[in-house]
Amino acid sequence: MLDIHWIRENQTKVQEAARLKGIPLSVEELLACDDRWRGLLQQVEELRRIRNRHSQAIPGWLREGRRAEAEDAKREVRRVNGELARLEAELDGAERQRADLLLRVPNVPSADTPPGRSDADNVETGRWGEPPQFGFEPLSHTALGELHRIIDLPRGVKPAGSRGYYLRGAGALLHRAVQQLAVDLLLAEGFTLLEVPLALRPEAFRHAGFFPLGEDQVYRLEGEDRYLAGTSEIPLLHYYSGETVDVTRPIRLAAVSSCFRSEAGSAGRDTHGLYRVHQFAKVEQVVLCEADPGAAESLLQEITGHARRLLRLLELPHRTVAVCTGDMSQKTFKQYDIETWMPSRAAYGETHSSSHLLDFQARRAGIRYKDGDGRLRYCYTLNNTAVASPRILIPLLENHQQEDGTVRIPEALRPYMGGLDRLVPP
Ligand code: AMP
Repeated sequence: MLDIHWIRENQTKVQEAARLKGIPLSVEELLACDDRWRGLLQQVEELRRIRNRHSQAIPGWLREGRRAEAEDAKREVRRVNGELARLEAELDGAERQRADLLLRVPNVPSADTPPGRSDADNVETGRWGEPPQFGFEPLSHTALGELHRIIDLPRGVKPAGSRGYYLRGAGALLHRAVQQLAVDLLLAEGFTLLEVPLALRPEAFRHAGFFPLGEDQVYRLEGEDRYLAGTSEIPLLHYYSGETVDVTRPIRLAAVSSCFRSEAGSAGRDTHGLYRVHQFAKVEQVVLCEADPGAAESLLQEITGHARRLLRLLELPHRTVAVCTGDMSQKTFKQYDIETWMPSRAAYGETHSSSHLLDFQARRAGIRYKDGDGRLRYCYTLNNTAVASPRILIPLLENHQQEDGTVRIPEALRPYMGGLDRLVPP
C-alpha cells in the first residue's frame, strides 16, 4: 500500500505504474473517493460534536427546571441522530470503496527497472557456468525420473489430479537434501528459521500484498475464512504485523514450507513434468530493515547472492535477469529473477525470484520501527527464494546426467544424501 498523500503528490507516476503493471486502476477515481470520504468524515464529526453538546446540556437544564430548552435539545439530538445514521452509512460505503481502491494501487517500479511488457523483456545482468554439451542424447527429468524410479507422475495424478506427482526414494531424498542445504546456508548467514502456519486468514494475504489481486491464485478452505499459503513469505512477513520492531540490524527470517497454488490462468502452460505444479516446497528468505534505500539495495544483492551461491554449490549454470515493469507483481519495487539452465527446455527456466518492496508490505501490515529521531516509520521488506523443489530437480537431474544413465550428485549435496556420489538406475 502507498501513502495516500504520496499518491496525491505523484498521481502521474502511480497511474503510469498501474499501466505498466497492467493493473486496472484510476488514480483520479481513488482521489475523488478519498475527497468524498474526507468530506463525509468532517460532516460526521461535526454532527457528533453537535449531538454531544446538546446531550450534555439536557441533564443540567432538567435540573434547573428549563424543560422547554431540554425538550428543544432532545428534538435536536433526534434530528441529528437521523442525519448521522444516513451520513455514517454513506461514510462507511466511501471508506470501503477507498480501502478497496487503495489495495489496488501498485508500487512504483524503481528507476533502474527495465521497461517492458513480459518476461521476454527482462534484461540479463550476469551469468555463471556454461550449459553442458552432451556427447549423447540427453534425457529429460521425467525420463530420468522414470528410469531411476524416483519421479512418478502417473501415480501422482491418481490422488491429486492434474500436475500431481510423487517423488520416491532418492528423488524424495534429493528434494529434502536441496532444502536442507539451503537452510544451512541461510543459518550460516544469520537467518532465524521459523516453522510457519500455512492455512491463513485473508488479512495475512492482504498484508503481504497478495490480496485482492491474487485471490484467484490460492485455494480457499471450504466453509472457512482461511486460505492455503502459496509461499511462506506471507506468514514470515505477518510474524511482526502490527508491531514496532528493532531493525538496527536487519531482521532475517527463513522458513521451509509447502506452497499451494491454483495456477489459475496457466492451463496448458508448462504441462511437462515438474516445472509447474500445484504443490511444491520452498525455502524462503524474508528481510525487514530500516527505510534506507542504500541499505535495502545491498540487502537485495545479499539475498540474491544467497540463491546464486546455492546454485554454484549445486554446480548449475544460471543467469540473473532484472525483471521488467510488465513482468512485476503489484507489490514489487525492484526484482531479479534467477534462471537455471534446463536442457529439456533448451533454455534457462526461472528458479528464484528476489524482490524489494520498499514499505509497501509493512504499511499494510503495520510493521514499524523507531528511527534515530524517535519517529515511527514503516520498515522496508525484501524476499527471495533460497530453493524451490521439485522445480530445482529439473536442472539438477538433467545437467548432471551421464551417458550411462547415472546422475552425478554435486559434492555439496553428498553429505545430505548419506555420502552418495551418484544415482544409479535400478
Ligand atoms: P514466487 O514465490 O512466485 O516468486 O516463486 C518462487 C519460485 O518458486 C519460482 O522461481 C519457482 O522456482 C518456484 N515455483 C513457483 N511456482 C511454482 C509452481 N507452480 N510449481 C513449481 N515451482 C514453482
